[in-house]
Amino acid sequence: MLSADFHIHTKFCDGADTPEQMADEALRLGLKALGFSGHVESGVVMDVSAYFTEIGRLQQQYKGKLDIIRGVELDNLYDPAAAADAEYVIGSTHYIDASHIGDQASAGFVRAGEHGDIKTSDVWPVAVDSSPEQMRVLGEQIYGGDYYKLSKDYYELEAHVADRIHPTFIGHFDLVTRYNDQMHYLDESDNRYLRPALDAMEYLVSKDIPFEINCGAANRGRKKELYPNMTLLRALYGFGGRIIINSDAHDKSRIAACFDKAQAAALSCGFRYTDVLAHDEDGSVVWKQIDLRGESSGHGNV
Ligand SMILES: [Zn+2]
Ligand SMILES: [Zn+2]
Repeated sequence: MLSADFHIHTKFCDGADTPEQMADEALRLGLKALGFSGHVESGVVMDVSAYFTEIGRLQQQYKGKLDIIRGVELDNLYDPAAAADAEYVIGSTHYIDASHIGDQASAGFVRAGEHGDIKTSDVWPVAVDSSPEQMRVLGEQIYGGDYYKLSKDYYELEAHVADRIHPTFIGHFDLVTRYNDQMHYLDESDNRYLRPALDAMEYLVSKDIPFEINCGAANRGRKKELYPNMTLLRALYGFGGRIIINSDAHDKSRIAACFDKAQAAALSCGFRYTDVLAHDEDGSVVWKQIDLRGESSGHGNV
């Protein structure tokens, strides 16, 4: 089994367990590295400085046993300054910016500034992963039932994540399909869906940003497929993209959950290596590569 996981939530944001409980469980599972990635976004309130302090304390406590890395999951629409003290940043797109389309106010959405916690006040962030009801309002009221236009806007925004927040890697690339297994609003093999997704993917690969294989929906039974789905994962390999395998655990029972499935998916798409993060001897965080069939080799700066 892969012995590292870099997408971990705790009680500081919307997780169920404390960072220490998560670290203890990671050790018990035999992990060598654990990256904490508290949410920094408009929909989840987190005391970022208290969070960094606690992760820093655990880095000392577990030194020599577990390589703890202090990260955040920063939303694409959020102010990147909030993540300045992070050792790595997951660039995730949870929202569509509905500022240029539809009647946002009558649909009951709230302008970003009105949340009081985001700097870009001209944005109307509408989550694609908060509930089926919200997704239906977004798709029907804002997009007039055109979910292909919705997914196109999603991927166009996601492509900008590289320049907006300079992430270490991309989180759950095709989150816009979060409710598609139950609601069937997109045919994920239709070119109207695939073309914009592939354009965004190709652009992000050209920026040399790895993509996570995110097991969070699969390991919670929310979706059959991983993020990205097999079609997109195959395309990622074709573009020469890099991967990192993560659980997106919100409680300790999900740490490294579904990694076997992710590993098998990666191998079947042609990937031989997965990337992991690690502290180097001088304390900086670097990329390393793990052979999906066994050995490790090589590293570079994050
Ligand atoms: Zn996320
Ligand atoms: Zn997450």
